[in-house]
Amino acid sequence: MKLIMFGAPGAGKGTQAEKIAAKLNIPTISTGAVIRSEIEKKSEIGLKVQDIIKKGELVSDDIVLNMIEIRLKEDDCKNGFILDGFPRTIPQAEGLEKLGYEIDHVINIDVSDETIIERLSGRLECPKCHAIFHKSTKKPKVDGICDLCGDTLATRADDNPEVIKNRLNVFHEQTEPLKDYYNKKGLVKNIGDLGSVEKVTEEIFKQLGV
Ligand code: AMP
Repeated sequence: MKLIMFGAPGAGKGTQAEKIAAKLNIPTISTGAVIRSEIEKKSEIGLKVQDIIKKGELVSDDIVLNMIEIRLKEDDCKNGFILDGFPRTIPQAEGLEKLGYEIDHVINIDVSDETIIERLSGRLECPKCHAIFHKSTKKPKVDGICDLCGDTLATRADDNPEVIKNRLNVFHEQTEPLKDYYNKKGLVKNIGDLGSVEKVTEEIFKQLGV
């Protein structure tokens, strides 16, 4: 199955993608994670995009499409994949089609801007294993320490209030039009804010028939 997780930053795309990936045994590809790892490695691309990501702006379509093209050719994508955070613009969606990939479903997770701001401003990430926690709703067992690998948790550089606002604006202006694009193709499965991770997962599985 080839799936796209769609929704604002902080809607829960990554969390739900992991649940679907485990159920269907297909990989999740997060362009944000690929970009952050390029920045960590201080690669040529990483150095080029680090200021863009810090401001919450979008990396250019060419760069992201190139990353996706390389990643989707890997063996583990043969039986399907879940795209998390891609496409984010109409040219990216068109580029994906040109690469010859036909998407089966677009899972649209709808969460209000207020909830997004609350979630992202309390989000903590493990820099080593990338597990996600929250200062009030998903506290780690030991303050500031990752439950899974013991590393020190951090706030993502783009999870500060000013940048969160910008990322939401960018989402509404540049990414939200994709909902119409995929609606016209009859691919969108709408998932509301059901209050808990488990309920959202259940609803996604139900709508996918898995
Ligand atoms: P995310 O982890 O999906 O929230 O992405 C973090 C940041 O990476 C975004 O704010 C963008 O700067 C960049 N990014 C991730 N995916 C894309 C994409 N498909 N197109 C452009 N920029 C992206």
